[in-house]
Amino acid sequence: MNSLEFPNFSRRKFIAVAGSAAAVAFAPRFLFADKKGIVPTMIDDAATATIKTYPLRRNISVLEGSGGNIAVLTGKDGKLLIDSGFAVSKPRIMEALNSLSSEPIVQLLNTHWHTDHTDGNDWVHAAGAKITAHVNTKKHLSTSTRVEGWDWTFPPAPAGAIPTVVFDDEHQLQHNGTNIRMKHYDPAHTDSDVSVVFEEPDIIHVGDTWWNGIYPFIDYSTGGSIDGMIRATEQNLRAITDKTIVIPGHGPVGNKAGLTEFRDMLVTIRNNVATLKKQGKSLSETVAAMPTAVYDEKYGQFLITPAFFTALVYSGV
Ligand SMILES: [Zn+2]
Repeated sequence: MNSLEFPNFSRRKFIAVAGSAAAVAFAPRFLFADKKGIVPTMIDDAATATIKTYPLRRNISVLEGSGGNIAVLTGKDGKLLIDSGFAVSKPRIMEALNSLSSEPIVQLLNTHWHTDHTDGNDWVHAAGAKITAHVNTKKHLSTSTRVEGWDWTFPPAPAGAIPTVVFDDEHQLQHNGTNIRMKHYDPAHTDSDVSVVFEEPDIIHVGDTWWNGIYPFIDYSTGGSIDGMIRATEQNLRAITDKTIVIPGHGPVGNKAGLTEFRDMLVTIRNNVATLKKQGKSLSETVAAMPTAVYDEKYGQFLITPAFFTALVYSGV
């Protein structure tokens, strides 16, 4: 069974085959909140979304509204951005950037390869930015890459969108009087995730290893897993204090308390799903048992539904 066959796939038919191994390697379309699929939904949202600007500390702000959260460091060296959102948001992102300061964009750092964080790379590069990322971000953007969980195959990104400064483990730079440290996670949400620390202001962007207050997507097609997500979250918690500002990939800017709650949610649901799977329950039986129930009211209100998140965890335990 190929996921391309899923658009007209009825729930009844799914349940009939859900016990077979082939049905659990990825999440079928019926688990999505929106029938048109996650990628078109994200792009359509970004096409009209208002970009909200939140000043954090010193000369650092966050722009919310186009795919992943975009961090901006302003100053005399020029603007440094973390992630570039969706290209359809360019006019509104430009407007938000210009309202912060008049310097050009000169640096772009990517937290990972996903399109909701890199689709704007091409125009940001054309505006003058050098792009830095993990070597696997360059790898996935350079070739056609399929994400089963999104039922979507991405063509190679345009040449201008490809990072030209890449690293394996760590990378450091100085910009606008701020020490910036990038660090690769072991595979978590993907195999290309990095954290970005702004040292003096005590701010960290953890990319999609944290979705604040919402169930996260986990991309098994490019190396992600539930256990990797939990390990990355533990690593994030060790790296911060109660004073650290934590920028998640999605959801509002938060702190250690919020990230701790996220870790507890991941661990609890992982254990619930693993217990059901060990009992021999199929994916559909596991979804029906509602192993996420206590968290659904808070965490199940975005793109990743309780059923879809259950399927993502089920794939990895
Ligand atoms: Zn992502």
